[in-house]
Amino acid sequence: MDTVNSTETEKKMMERLQKLMEITESHICLHCLGRRFADSMEGPGNLLRGMKLKEEFSLSPESPCAVCGDIFERIDDAVEAARSRIDALDLEYSSILVGTRLPDDLVEGDEQINRKLGIQAECIKKELNREIGKRLAGELGCRADFQNPDLVVMVDFRTGLKVWIQINPIFIEGRYRKLVRGIPQTKWPCRRCRGRGCEACNHTGKMYSTSVEELVSEPVLEASRGRDTRFHGSGREDVDVRMLGRGRPFVLEILEPRTRNLDLEALEDEINRRAAGMVEVSGLKFSSRNRKVEIKNTSRERYKVYRALVELEGPVGEDDLMKLETLKVINQRTPLRVSHRRADKVRKRRVLDIKWNLKGEGCLELIIKGEGGLYIKELISGDHGRTSPSVSSVLGVAARCTALDVLEVGDPP
Ligand SMILES: [Zn+2]
Ligand SMILES: [Zn+2]
Repeated sequence: MDTVNSTETEKKMMERLQKLMEITESHICLHCLGRRFADSMEGPGNLLRGMKLKEEFSLSPESPCAVCGDIFERIDDAVEAARSRIDALDLEYSSILVGTRLPDDLVEGDEQINRKLGIQAECIKKELNREIGKRLAGELGCRADFQNPDLVVMVDFRTGLKVWIQINPIFIEGRYRKLVRGIPQTKWPCRRCRGRGCEACNHTGKMYSTSVEELVSEPVLEASRGRDTRFHGSGREDVDVRMLGRGRPFVLEILEPRTRNLDLEALEDEINRRAAGMVEVSGLKFSSRNRKVEIKNTSRERYKVYRALVELEGPVGEDDLMKLETLKVINQRTPLRVSHRRADKVRKRRVLDIKWNLKGEGCLELIIKGEGGLYIKELISGDHGRTSPSVSSVLGVAARCTALDVLEVGDPP
C-alpha cells in the first residue's frame, strides 16, 4: 500500500479494520469506513479512503450502513432541496455554511464505535456538513465559508428531510448628524399604547413622528430588501439636542437582507436627499458584528464637545466668569430626569475644557469639552445640588441650559 510506510502501521490498520467489520457485521458504507482511517491514509476525502481500503483488502461491505443508515446517499436530495429553497428566496449571496441535524442515536452510535476502536475520528456530522456544503456551493457557484457566511443552510435529517435557510445580517457603519431638535435617535414607541396606536399618538404608535433610526434605515431597508433593521449608536443625545460637527458613529444592522451588494455611496446620497434638513449621514462603509459591539461600548471612552446656551437669573461680569475655570472634577449624582431608568449613584466626571462668551444680559454661550458620561444640562443647573460644582454654583446665580448642541464625539483613545 503506497500510503503506508511501516509494517507496524499496517498491522494496526489491519486490526482496526477487522474490528470495525466485526462491530458492524460488514454493514458499513465507504464514508463511515474511510472516516476512521484519516489518521493513517491520504485522501482526499473519506469516500476515497474507503474505496482504497475496499480494494486493498478485498472487502465486500454491505448495505445498509450500520453506522449512518446510508445517509450519504441522501446528499443529492439534500442539495436539491436546499438549492430550490434558496432559488425560491431570490437572494444575493456569495458564501454559505451548511449545518445538519441528525438523530441522536446515530451520532451516539458513531462515537461509540470510535470508543470501541480506541481512536479519535472526525464525527459524522462534520463530514456530512462538509460534503453537502462542497456540493451545494459548487452548484450555487459560491464559496463555503466557516467564519462569516452570508447564508446558513440547515439540513434536518431527523424526520424526513427538512431544509431551512438563515440569512445572516449585514452591518453598515458611518456617522450621523442631527440638524434639528425634536427627533429622537431611535424609534420611540408611544408610552400610552406601547406602539399599537391610540388617540394620544395620532394612531402612529410613536412618541415622535420620525427618528434618526427611521430616516437612516428606511432607504437601506428598501435597497437591501431586508426584514428589519437595528440601529446602534455610540451613545445618544437627548431629543432636544442637535448632533453637529463630524457626527456620531453608528452601526446599522440589517436583518435578513436579500440584496447584499449595496452601493453605499448611492445609498448615502439617497438617505441625505430624503432626510434633507433633518439628518445627514457620512462615511458609510460595510462593517461587522464586532464593530457593532465596539461602537456601542466605547461611548464612555469618547470625549464630547458641546455648545450650550445658558440663561442666567442674575447679572454676572467677566470677572465672575473666570470662576468657570475652576470646574474640573464634577461629582454628579444620577440626574432627576433620568433617575427612573438609571441606578441612583454619584459619578466623578471631568470637564476637560470650558470656554465662554457673554452674549448679552443673562445670556451665556459655553463651549464645554467633557469626559464621556458627563451630563451637561445638570453641569449647568446643578440639578438641585445633585451635580457639584456646577456653572450655577460657581457663578452664584441660577443657570439653565436653553439650547444644547454636540459639536464633537471624539475617537476613543
Ligand atoms: Zn455510513
Ligand atoms: Zn399611542
